[in-house]
Amino acid sequence: MSDRSLLILPGDGIGPEVMAEVRKVIDWFGQARGIGFTVSEGLVGGASYDAHGTPLTDETMAQAQSVDAVLLGAVGGPAYDDLDFSVKPERGLLRLRKEMDLYANLRPAQCFDALADFSSLKREIVSGLDIMILRELTSGVYFGEPRGIHKEGNERVGVNTQRYTESEIARAARSAFELARRRNNKVCSMEKANVMESGILWRDVVNEVHAAEYGDVELSHMYADNGAMQLVRAPKQFDVILTDNLFGDILSDCAAMLTGSLGMLPSASLGAPMENGRPKALYEPVHGSAPDITGQGKANPIACILSFAMALRYSFDLGDEATRLEQAVESVLADGARTADLMGPDGGTPISTSEMGDAIIAKLAA
Ligand code: NAD
Repeated sequence: MSDRSLLILPGDGIGPEVMAEVRKVIDWFGQARGIGFTVSEGLVGGASYDAHGTPLTDETMAQAQSVDAVLLGAVGGPAYDDLDFSVKPERGLLRLRKEMDLYANLRPAQCFDALADFSSLKREIVSGLDIMILRELTSGVYFGEPRGIHKEGNERVGVNTQRYTESEIARAARSAFELARRRNNKVCSMEKANVMESGILWRDVVNEVHAAEYGDVELSHMYADNGAMQLVRAPKQFDVILTDNLFGDILSDCAAMLTGSLGMLPSASLGAPMENGRPKALYEPVHGSAPDITGQGKANPIACILSFAMALRYSFDLGDEATRLEQAVESVLADGARTADLMGPDGGTPISTSEMGDAIIAKLAA
Protein backbone atom coordinates (compact mmCIF):
# COMPACT_ATOMS: atom_id res chain seq x y z
CA MET A 1 0.00 0.00 0.00
CA SER A 2 1.33 3.41 -0.98
CA ASP A 3 0.44 6.59 0.90
CA ARG A 4 -0.48 8.09 -2.48
CA SER A 5 -4.05 7.22 -3.37
CA LEU A 6 -5.80 7.62 -6.71
CA LEU A 7 -9.38 7.04 -7.80
CA ILE A 8 -9.65 6.40 -11.53
CA LEU A 9 -13.00 7.17 -13.20
CA PRO A 10 -12.60 6.34 -16.91
CA GLY A 11 -16.19 7.33 -17.78
CA ASP A 12 -17.62 7.05 -21.28
CA GLY A 13 -16.62 6.94 -24.95
CA ILE A 14 -12.85 7.28 -25.39
CA GLY A 15 -12.46 7.83 -21.62
CA PRO A 16 -11.61 4.16 -20.91
CA GLU A 17 -9.32 4.00 -23.96
CA VAL A 18 -7.15 6.96 -22.96
CA MET A 19 -7.22 5.98 -19.29
CA ALA A 20 -5.82 2.53 -20.17
CA GLU A 21 -2.68 4.34 -21.34
CA VAL A 22 -2.49 6.32 -18.10
CA ARG A 23 -2.66 3.00 -16.21
CA LYS A 24 0.45 1.89 -18.12
CA VAL A 25 2.23 5.09 -17.08
CA ILE A 26 1.18 4.66 -13.43
CA ASP A 27 2.45 1.06 -13.48
CA TRP A 28 5.72 2.20 -15.01
CA PHE A 29 6.33 4.73 -12.23
CA GLY A 30 5.70 1.99 -9.65
CA GLN A 31 7.95 -0.56 -11.27
CA ALA A 32 10.76 1.53 -12.68
CA ARG A 33 10.93 4.45 -10.23
CA GLY A 34 9.60 2.89 -7.03
CA ILE A 35 6.84 5.53 -6.95
CA GLY A 36 3.75 3.49 -6.14
CA PHE A 37 0.10 4.49 -5.97
CA THR A 38 -2.86 2.81 -4.33
CA VAL A 39 -5.30 2.82 -7.22
CA SER A 40 -9.03 2.20 -7.10
CA GLU A 41 -11.43 2.46 -10.01
CA GLY A 42 -15.08 3.47 -10.26
CA LEU A 43 -17.85 4.49 -12.62
CA VAL A 44 -18.98 7.97 -13.61
CA GLY A 45 -21.29 9.45 -16.22
CA GLY A 46 -23.22 7.20 -18.60
CA ALA A 47 -21.29 4.13 -17.44
CA SER A 48 -22.53 4.72 -13.90
CA TYR A 49 -26.04 5.47 -15.12
CA ASP A 50 -26.13 2.15 -17.00
CA ALA A 51 -25.02 0.22 -13.93
CA HIS A 52 -26.76 2.15 -11.13
CA GLY A 53 -29.30 4.54 -12.64
CA THR A 54 -27.29 7.58 -11.51
CA PRO A 55 -24.23 9.32 -13.04
CA LEU A 56 -22.38 9.13 -9.70
CA THR A 57 -23.26 6.92 -6.73
CA ASP A 58 -22.90 8.13 -3.13
CA GLU A 59 -20.26 5.43 -2.61
CA THR A 60 -18.12 6.72 -5.50
CA MET A 61 -18.60 10.31 -4.28
CA ALA A 62 -17.40 9.25 -0.81
CA GLN A 63 -14.42 7.46 -2.34
CA ALA A 64 -13.53 10.60 -4.32
CA GLN A 65 -13.54 12.58 -1.06
CA SER A 66 -11.20 10.10 0.60
CA VAL A 67 -8.40 9.81 -1.98
CA ASP A 68 -5.54 12.20 -2.75
CA ALA A 69 -6.53 12.63 -6.39
CA VAL A 70 -9.28 11.65 -8.81
CA LEU A 71 -8.36 10.99 -12.45
CA LEU A 72 -11.32 11.28 -14.81
CA GLY A 73 -11.51 10.31 -18.50
CA ALA A 74 -14.62 11.84 -20.08
CA VAL A 75 -18.37 11.62 -19.72
CA GLY A 76 -21.33 11.74 -22.09
CA GLY A 77 -22.41 10.44 -25.44
CA PRO A 78 -25.40 10.27 -27.77
CA ALA A 79 -26.92 7.30 -25.89
CA TYR A 80 -27.57 9.64 -22.95
CA ASP A 81 -28.71 12.76 -24.79
CA ASP A 82 -32.39 12.22 -24.02
CA LEU A 83 -32.01 11.47 -20.32
CA ASP A 84 -33.60 13.74 -17.77
CA PHE A 85 -31.30 16.67 -16.83
CA SER A 86 -30.94 15.31 -13.27
CA VAL A 87 -29.27 12.08 -14.40
CA LYS A 88 -27.31 13.30 -17.42
CA PRO A 89 -23.66 12.09 -17.44
CA GLU A 90 -22.36 15.66 -16.90
CA ARG A 91 -24.19 15.79 -13.57
CA GLY A 92 -21.71 13.23 -12.24
CA LEU A 93 -18.79 15.49 -13.07
CA LEU A 94 -20.55 18.60 -11.74
CA ARG A 95 -21.33 16.79 -8.47
CA LEU A 96 -17.66 15.86 -8.04
CA ARG A 97 -16.54 19.46 -8.64
CA LYS A 98 -19.21 20.89 -6.33
CA GLU A 99 -18.95 18.52 -3.38
CA MET A 100 -15.15 18.48 -3.46
CA ASP A 101 -15.34 22.32 -3.63
CA LEU A 102 -12.75 22.50 -6.43
CA TYR A 103 -12.44 26.25 -6.75
CA ALA A 104 -9.20 26.53 -8.73
CA ASN A 105 -9.27 25.26 -12.30
CA LEU A 106 -5.81 25.05 -13.84
CA ARG A 107 -5.59 25.02 -17.61
CA PRO A 108 -2.06 25.02 -19.02
CA ALA A 109 -1.46 26.15 -22.57
CA GLN A 110 1.82 24.70 -23.63
CA CYS A 111 3.02 24.53 -27.19
CA PHE A 112 5.26 21.60 -27.98
CA ASP A 113 7.73 22.68 -30.61
CA ALA A 114 6.91 19.69 -32.85
CA LEU A 115 3.28 20.84 -32.99
CA ALA A 116 3.80 24.59 -33.39
CA ASP A 117 2.48 24.47 -36.96
CA PHE A 118 -0.86 23.18 -35.65
CA SER A 119 -1.66 26.51 -34.08
CA SER A 120 -3.75 29.01 -35.98
CA LEU A 121 -1.12 31.59 -34.99
CA LYS A 122 2.35 31.98 -36.51
CA ARG A 123 5.01 29.58 -35.27
CA GLU A 124 7.15 32.33 -33.71
CA ILE A 125 4.23 33.58 -31.62
CA VAL A 126 3.44 30.19 -30.05
CA SER A 127 6.65 28.17 -30.22
CA GLY A 128 7.86 27.53 -26.67
CA LEU A 129 4.66 28.91 -25.17
CA ASP A 130 4.05 27.76 -21.58
CA ILE A 131 1.34 29.62 -19.70
CA MET A 132 -1.18 28.63 -17.06
CA ILE A 133 -4.69 29.99 -16.66
CA LEU A 134 -6.21 29.76 -13.22
CA ARG A 135 -9.98 30.09 -13.46
CA GLU A 136 -12.12 30.44 -10.34
CA LEU A 137 -14.56 27.57 -10.73
CA THR A 138 -17.20 27.52 -8.01
CA SER A 139 -18.63 31.04 -7.89
CA GLY A 140 -19.32 34.07 -10.07
CA VAL A 141 -22.03 34.55 -12.63
CA TYR A 142 -22.68 30.84 -13.24
CA PHE A 143 -23.83 30.43 -9.64
CA GLY A 144 -24.89 33.90 -8.42
CA GLU A 145 -28.46 34.62 -7.29
CA PRO A 146 -30.89 36.01 -8.35
CA ARG A 147 -31.02 34.18 -11.64
CA GLY A 148 -33.74 33.10 -14.02
CA ILE A 149 -36.10 34.28 -16.73
CA HIS A 150 -39.15 36.30 -15.66
CA LYS A 151 -41.77 38.45 -17.24
CA GLU A 152 -41.70 42.26 -17.04
CA GLY A 153 -44.77 43.68 -18.70
CA ASN A 154 -44.98 42.19 -22.16
CA GLU A 155 -41.49 40.81 -22.43
CA ARG A 156 -39.25 38.20 -20.84
CA VAL A 157 -36.11 39.23 -18.97
CA GLY A 158 -33.10 36.97 -18.40
CA VAL A 159 -31.07 37.56 -15.23
CA ASN A 160 -27.76 36.26 -13.95
CA THR A 161 -25.74 37.73 -11.13
CA GLN A 162 -21.97 38.14 -10.95
CA ARG A 163 -21.22 37.76 -7.25
CA TYR A 164 -17.90 37.23 -5.48
CA THR A 165 -17.07 37.32 -1.79
CA GLU A 166 -13.67 38.50 -0.57
CA SER A 167 -12.79 35.01 0.67
CA GLU A 168 -13.63 33.44 -2.69
CA ILE A 169 -11.35 35.90 -4.47
CA ALA A 170 -8.60 35.56 -1.87
CA ARG A 171 -8.38 31.78 -2.04
CA ALA A 172 -8.22 31.82 -5.86
CA ALA A 173 -5.54 34.53 -5.69
CA ARG A 174 -3.48 32.49 -3.20
CA SER A 175 -3.63 29.48 -5.54
CA ALA A 176 -2.39 31.64 -8.41
CA PHE A 177 0.50 33.10 -6.39
CA GLU A 178 1.51 29.64 -5.14
CA LEU A 179 1.46 28.37 -8.73
CA ALA A 180 3.55 31.29 -9.93
CA ARG A 181 6.18 30.54 -7.28
CA ARG A 182 6.62 27.09 -8.84
CA ARG A 183 6.88 28.62 -12.30
CA ASN A 184 8.20 31.99 -13.48
CA ASN A 185 6.87 33.99 -10.53
CA LYS A 186 4.47 36.24 -12.46
CA VAL A 187 0.70 36.63 -12.09
CA CYS A 188 -1.52 38.71 -14.35
CA SER A 189 -5.02 39.11 -12.90
CA MET A 190 -7.84 39.79 -15.37
CA GLU A 191 -11.28 41.30 -14.68
CA LYS A 192 -13.37 44.25 -15.83
CA ALA A 193 -12.79 46.68 -12.97
CA ASN A 194 -13.56 49.51 -15.40
CA VAL A 195 -17.23 48.56 -15.66
CA MET A 196 -18.02 45.99 -12.92
CA GLU A 197 -18.06 46.45 -9.13
CA SER A 198 -17.23 42.78 -8.71
CA GLY A 199 -14.15 43.53 -10.82
CA ILE A 200 -13.15 46.42 -8.53
CA LEU A 201 -13.42 44.14 -5.51
CA TRP A 202 -11.52 41.39 -7.36
CA ARG A 203 -8.62 43.78 -8.05
CA ASP A 204 -8.61 45.13 -4.46
CA VAL A 205 -8.53 41.70 -2.87
CA VAL A 206 -5.85 40.37 -5.23
CA ASN A 207 -3.73 43.43 -4.34
CA GLU A 208 -4.32 42.88 -0.61
CA VAL A 209 -3.36 39.20 -0.72
CA HIS A 210 -0.32 40.08 -2.78
CA ALA A 211 0.85 42.82 -0.41
CA ALA A 212 0.31 40.71 2.71
CA GLU A 213 1.66 37.35 1.61
CA TYR A 214 3.25 37.28 -1.85
CA GLY A 215 5.37 40.39 -2.29
CA ASP A 216 8.03 38.27 -4.02
CA VAL A 217 5.67 37.46 -6.94
CA GLU A 218 5.37 39.97 -9.79
CA LEU A 219 1.73 41.04 -10.08
CA SER A 220 0.01 42.92 -12.90
CA HIS A 221 -3.63 43.59 -13.79
CA MET A 222 -5.36 43.69 -17.15
CA TYR A 223 -8.94 44.19 -18.28
CA ALA A 224 -10.20 40.84 -19.54
CA ASP A 225 -11.03 42.11 -23.03
CA ASN A 226 -7.49 43.39 -23.45
CA GLY A 227 -6.32 40.07 -22.01
CA ALA A 228 -8.11 38.22 -24.81
CA MET A 229 -6.35 40.43 -27.37
CA GLN A 230 -2.96 39.99 -25.74
CA LEU A 231 -3.42 36.21 -25.66
CA VAL A 232 -3.52 36.07 -29.43
CA ARG A 233 -1.10 38.99 -30.00
CA ALA A 234 1.76 38.03 -27.69
CA PRO A 235 0.84 35.11 -25.45
CA LYS A 236 4.40 34.50 -24.23
CA GLN A 237 4.26 37.69 -22.10
CA PHE A 238 2.20 35.71 -19.54
CA ASP A 239 3.13 33.16 -16.90
CA VAL A 240 0.04 32.63 -14.67
CA ILE A 241 -3.25 34.32 -15.57
CA LEU A 242 -5.70 34.61 -12.67
CA THR A 243 -9.31 35.22 -13.56
CA ASP A 244 -12.92 34.58 -12.59
CA ASN A 245 -15.31 31.85 -13.69
CA LEU A 246 -16.88 33.59 -16.70
CA PHE A 247 -13.79 35.26 -18.16
CA GLY A 248 -11.77 32.15 -17.35
CA ASP A 249 -14.16 29.98 -19.32
CA ILE A 250 -13.56 32.04 -22.42
CA LEU A 251 -9.89 32.93 -21.96
CA SER A 252 -8.86 29.33 -21.21
CA ASP A 253 -10.52 28.00 -24.35
CA CYS A 254 -8.91 30.75 -26.37
CA ALA A 255 -5.48 29.98 -24.88
CA ALA A 256 -5.97 26.26 -25.40
CA MET A 257 -6.44 26.66 -29.10
CA LEU A 258 -3.11 28.47 -29.37
CA THR A 259 -1.58 25.03 -29.01
CA GLY A 260 -3.43 22.92 -31.58
CA SER A 261 -5.38 19.73 -30.88
CA LEU A 262 -7.99 19.07 -28.20
CA GLY A 263 -6.29 15.71 -27.71
CA MET A 264 -3.30 17.46 -26.13
CA LEU A 265 -4.91 19.51 -23.37
CA PRO A 266 -4.84 18.51 -19.69
CA SER A 267 -6.50 20.21 -16.73
CA ALA A 268 -6.58 20.14 -12.96
CA SER A 269 -9.22 21.33 -10.53
CA LEU A 270 -7.97 21.90 -7.00
CA GLY A 271 -9.65 22.65 -3.68
CA ALA A 272 -8.60 23.27 -0.11
CA PRO A 273 -5.76 21.28 1.49
CA MET A 274 -6.79 18.05 3.22
CA GLU A 275 -5.40 16.83 6.56
CA ASN A 276 -2.31 15.41 4.86
CA GLY A 277 -1.60 18.79 3.24
CA ARG A 278 -2.51 17.64 -0.27
CA PRO A 279 -5.27 19.62 -2.00
CA LYS A 280 -8.58 18.07 -2.98
CA ALA A 281 -7.96 17.35 -6.63
CA LEU A 282 -9.53 16.20 -9.86
CA TYR A 283 -7.46 15.79 -13.02
CA GLU A 284 -9.04 15.36 -16.44
CA PRO A 285 -8.37 16.01 -20.10
CA VAL A 286 -10.21 19.01 -21.55
CA HIS A 287 -11.76 16.95 -24.34
CA GLY A 288 -15.04 15.04 -24.15
CA SER A 289 -15.95 11.44 -24.88
CA ALA A 290 -15.46 11.79 -28.68
CA PRO A 291 -18.23 9.38 -29.75
CA ASP A 292 -17.20 9.80 -33.40
CA ILE A 293 -13.94 7.89 -32.82
CA THR A 294 -14.83 5.69 -29.83
CA GLY A 295 -13.65 2.10 -30.05
CA GLN A 296 -11.44 2.68 -33.08
CA GLY A 297 -8.05 3.05 -31.39
CA LYS A 298 -7.80 6.59 -32.77
CA ALA A 299 -7.99 8.61 -29.55
CA ASN A 300 -4.95 10.61 -28.54
CA PRO A 301 -4.09 9.66 -24.94
CA ILE A 302 -1.69 12.59 -24.40
CA ALA A 303 -4.23 14.97 -22.77
CA CYS A 304 -5.06 12.31 -20.20
CA ILE A 305 -1.39 11.39 -19.67
CA LEU A 306 -0.47 15.07 -19.21
CA SER A 307 -3.33 15.35 -16.69
CA PHE A 308 -1.59 12.60 -14.70
CA ALA A 309 1.65 14.62 -14.97
CA MET A 310 -0.25 17.51 -13.34
CA ALA A 311 -1.30 15.10 -10.56
CA LEU A 312 2.34 14.18 -9.99
CA ARG A 313 3.24 17.86 -9.67
CA TYR A 314 0.29 19.36 -7.80
CA SER A 315 -0.98 16.48 -5.63
CA PHE A 316 2.18 14.54 -4.90
CA ASP A 317 4.90 17.20 -5.11
CA LEU A 318 6.75 15.10 -7.69
CA GLY A 319 7.63 17.96 -10.03
CA ASP A 320 10.76 16.27 -11.39
CA GLU A 321 8.79 13.14 -12.29
CA ALA A 322 6.08 15.30 -13.91
CA THR A 323 8.76 17.01 -16.00
CA ARG A 324 10.19 13.60 -16.94
CA LEU A 325 6.76 12.53 -18.21
CA GLU A 326 6.19 15.81 -20.10
CA GLN A 327 9.62 15.49 -21.71
CA ALA A 328 8.81 11.91 -22.76
CA VAL A 329 5.69 13.24 -24.52
CA GLU A 330 7.69 16.02 -26.15
CA SER A 331 10.33 13.60 -27.33
CA VAL A 332 7.79 11.18 -28.86
CA LEU A 333 6.26 14.08 -30.77
CA ALA A 334 9.69 15.30 -31.87
CA ASP A 335 10.29 11.82 -33.35
CA GLY A 336 7.22 12.37 -35.51
CA ALA A 337 4.82 9.93 -33.81
CA ARG A 338 1.25 11.15 -34.34
CA THR A 339 -2.23 9.92 -33.55
CA ALA A 340 -4.84 10.67 -36.23
CA ASP A 341 -5.85 14.04 -34.72
CA LEU A 342 -2.26 15.29 -35.10
CA MET A 343 -1.81 14.42 -38.75
CA GLY A 344 -0.86 17.45 -40.80
CA PRO A 345 -1.94 18.13 -44.38
CA ASP A 346 1.11 16.18 -45.63
CA GLY A 347 -0.45 12.96 -44.41
CA GLY A 348 1.59 10.07 -43.02
CA THR A 349 0.55 7.03 -41.04
CA PRO A 350 -1.09 7.65 -37.69
CA ILE A 351 -0.36 5.41 -34.75
CA SER A 352 -3.03 4.00 -32.42
CA THR A 353 -3.94 5.05 -28.88
CA SER A 354 -2.01 2.16 -27.36
CA GLU A 355 0.98 2.63 -29.66
CA MET A 356 1.19 6.25 -28.49
CA GLY A 357 1.06 5.08 -24.85
CA ASP A 358 3.78 2.50 -25.52
CA ALA A 359 5.97 5.08 -27.28
CA ILE A 360 5.73 7.39 -24.26
CA ILE A 361 6.64 4.54 -21.89
CA ALA A 362 9.61 3.67 -24.10
CA LYS A 363 10.85 7.28 -23.85
CA LEU A 364 10.33 7.29 -20.07
CA ALA A 365 12.44 4.18 -19.84
CA ALA A 366 15.18 5.46 -22.20
P1 NAD B 1 -15.35 16.08 -27.81
O1 NAD B 1 -14.24 16.74 -27.09
O2 NAD B 1 -15.75 14.76 -27.29
O3 NAD B 1 -14.95 15.92 -29.35
C1 NAD B 1 -14.74 17.02 -30.24
C2 NAD B 1 -13.89 16.56 -31.45
O4 NAD B 1 -12.54 16.37 -31.02
C3 NAD B 1 -14.34 15.22 -32.02
O5 NAD B 1 -14.17 15.25 -33.43
C4 NAD B 1 -13.42 14.22 -31.41
O6 NAD B 1 -13.20 13.07 -32.19
C5 NAD B 1 -12.12 15.02 -31.24
N1 NAD B 1 -11.37 14.59 -30.05
C6 NAD B 1 -11.68 14.84 -28.76
N2 NAD B 1 -10.79 14.26 -27.95
C7 NAD B 1 -9.91 13.61 -28.75
C8 NAD B 1 -8.75 12.82 -28.49
N3 NAD B 1 -8.31 12.56 -27.23
N4 NAD B 1 -8.09 12.31 -29.55
C9 NAD B 1 -8.48 12.55 -30.80
N5 NAD B 1 -9.55 13.32 -31.11
C10 NAD B 1 -10.27 13.82 -30.08
O7 NAD B 1 -16.58 17.09 -27.81
P2 NAD B 1 -18.07 16.90 -28.36
O8 NAD B 1 -18.05 16.06 -29.59
O9 NAD B 1 -18.64 18.24 -28.38
O10 NAD B 1 -18.83 16.08 -27.22
C11 NAD B 1 -18.98 14.65 -27.21
C12 NAD B 1 -19.56 14.24 -25.87
O11 NAD B 1 -18.61 14.53 -24.83
C13 NAD B 1 -20.85 14.97 -25.49
O12 NAD B 1 -21.70 14.05 -24.86
C14 NAD B 1 -20.38 16.05 -24.52
O13 NAD B 1 -21.39 16.41 -23.63
C15 NAD B 1 -19.25 15.33 -23.81
N6 NAD B 1 -18.23 16.22 -23.23
C16 NAD B 1 -17.71 15.82 -22.05
C17 NAD B 1 -16.69 16.57 -21.47
C18 NAD B 1 -16.07 16.05 -20.20
O14 NAD B 1 -16.22 14.86 -19.88
N7 NAD B 1 -15.35 16.86 -19.47
C19 NAD B 1 -16.19 17.71 -22.11
C20 NAD B 1 -16.74 18.08 -23.35
C21 NAD B 1 -17.77 17.32 -23.90
